[in-house]
Amino acid sequence: MKKLSDLSSEQLSYWFSEASEQAKQGKLPNYIPLLQQSEPTVFTFCIVTRNNYILSQGDSQKNFALMSIIKPFLLLYLLSELGEELIFKKVGSQSSNYSFNSLEQLQLDHGFPRNPMINSGALTLASLLPGKDSNTRCKNLQQWLNQQSECHLFLDELMLHSVQSLPNLGNKAIIDELSKTGQINEPEITLDTYNKICCLSVTVIELARLGLLLVNSPNISSNNVTIVRNIMTTCGLYEASENFAKNIGFPSKSGVSGAILSVVPQQGAIACYSPPLDAQGNSVAGLYLVEKIAMALRAREK
Ligand code: GLN
Repeated sequence: MKKLSDLSSEQLSYWFSEASEQAKQGKLPNYIPLLQQSEPTVFTFCIVTRNNYILSQGDSQKNFALMSIIKPFLLLYLLSELGEELIFKKVGSQSSNYSFNSLEQLQLDHGFPRNPMINSGALTLASLLPGKDSNTRCKNLQQWLNQQSECHLFLDELMLHSVQSLPNLGNKAIIDELSKTGQINEPEITLDTYNKICCLSVTVIELARLGLLLVNSPNISSNNVTIVRNIMTTCGLYEASENFAKNIGFPSKSGVSGAILSVVPQQGAIACYSPPLDAQGNSVAGLYLVEKIAMALRAREK
């Protein structure tokens, strides 16, 4: 496969402007007021390789909330802390054709969350974080990630306030169901923890650095990295996962803030941020750019 560092900046600039054009078709989410007020024309991406080659375009200093991109890292941390056996007693690893916050999927599965990339799975995993309250639980994950990746993830209090300002009935219904079936204890702390970890914020450069944890990381078990990458490949982009896996095949995860992270195994990571989303809740421009890069990297394989 061609190397990430072989991509020319002219080529990337061209795709960048095409992707910006595509973003006009996307919509901002309407259930978190601060995300609805995001600047739709902001677009930035960063490629970081394991040899520390960095290429970025757009406003790479812009901070944004990870939202669902925290999910693979929540899984990675808990695999390190608690081990594979315990984790997969709590969540499955199968993809879902339902939306990321589907209660119906959880009910069809008799209360057993299908995978950790959708809300039911991530809420269940959030309940396993060590710590007596939501602040400590969020901090533990934040500190571990910051140590492992030399990033400066911080809790965006304004975003958290905005998340909490409207009742999220979908997540509330999932929490009630998980609590009813005995899947989680302490529903309030769990929901609070989940909301906090979703509001951990980064720049696009830091997001790409976080992605490197899933490429090679001396302190993290390669078995755990493989588990997380496999689940990202099949479940990371919700209902679009299957198609994306067929066309691109890179483990990827999106967040409702408009961020996308893709891991290029053995090479590096691509992080994008552009707020307008498609119908599945994935960044339109981010997905477009990652697809173009993936096609270019695979082009010389034949
Ligand atoms: N906090 C968001 C939610 O639960 C995260 C979802 C997402 O990024 N897709 O709705």
